[in-house]
Amino acid sequence: MTWIAPGLELLFAVVAATLDENGTLVEANAGFLRIIRVEGREPIGAHATRFFLQPDFATLTRAPAGPDGEIYQGLLTLGEYMGRSRSLRARVWRVGGQLRVLAEYDIDDLERLNDTVIQLNCDYAKAHVELAQTNLRLQQREAQIIIVSLTDQLTGVGNRRKLEQALATEISRANRTGDRLCAVMADLDHFKRVNDTYGHEAGDRVLAAFGELLRLRTRATDIVTRFGGEEFVVLMSHTELDHAVATTERIREALAACCIEPLPDPVTASFGVAELVAAEEGGALLRRIDKALYEAKQAGRNRVVVG
Ligand code: GH3
Ligand code: MG
Ligand code: MG
Repeated sequence: MTWIAPGLELLFAVVAATLDENGTLVEANAGFLRIIRVEGREPIGAHATRFFLQPDFATLTRAPAGPDGEIYQGLLTLGEYMGRSRSLRARVWRVGGQLRVLAEYDIDDLERLNDTVIQLNCDYAKAHVELAQTNLRLQQREAQIIIVSLTDQLTGVGNRRKLEQALATEISRANRTGDRLCAVMADLDHFKRVNDTYGHEAGDRVLAAFGELLRLRTRATDIVTRFGGEEFVVLMSHTELDHAVATTERIREALAACCIEPLPDPVTASFGVAELVAAEEGGALLRRIDKALYEAKQAGRNRVVVG
């Protein structure tokens, strides 16, 4: 703008424009253009009444030209701005036959709006943190539920569902990578006698102790599961048959050598071991180790048979 309006120091002017004596917009600063350039209409050359409901520029320009000076002080209201009307505080001066318009935003309003935005941002950040914490808790809870749903409550080793999952995963991995995979089925010998002689609770303790022994005597990558009753299945990935047999033999010896409270004598177990062969499915592998286990029982128990 090339002019300085009287009274400018009283306003925090953000928009300024010049109208000719008919009310046609001849000059406007960037702020003014931004405000009135709605829906792509070019404002320069257009009559002010096309943009503003208030003040009534038609009346202001029709009035007989008086001396230079302020002719309006009040709201400058846009008829439509982003779908709704909008007002600014404004002053209009007559200067040498032209109308000079200065308008400002209500600074208090802006400040309040700013406070609201800051508050909303704080609320949003707080809600975001709370949501993240809730998400984390839910994820932890979900992970716990998954673990519980795959764990045998009595012994702490995996349950039958875990075995089914792990068997499918390990077999597809072995097929993909060419890795060796072995499976071992264990069954406590004459376990019914343990229950009958020392009670069901003592039997439970033996089951828990055997589960613990299987875990301690196998690698962290091996998967120990309770197949049901007093039968357990261990999956040994990256393991060839000789190694699986040797590990199973050590487990058998360890069990036969230790006493589990309150039993006065050690219990023993029989084992069937097999290595996955090409194109074999999980069910077939389980049947092979079950058959080998049966043979171990038939052969007198407390032994390892390869299937
Ligand atoms: P074998 O040497 O031929 O395997 O004889 P066994 O007595 O071990 O086999 P059998 O199948 O005759 O008996 C298994 C016993 O295991 C019977 C059942 O009461 C017991 N059993 C199964 N599940 C549990 C359990 O969760 N807790 C306890 N305490 N006993 C169980
Ligand atoms: Mg048994
Ligand atoms: Mg059994």
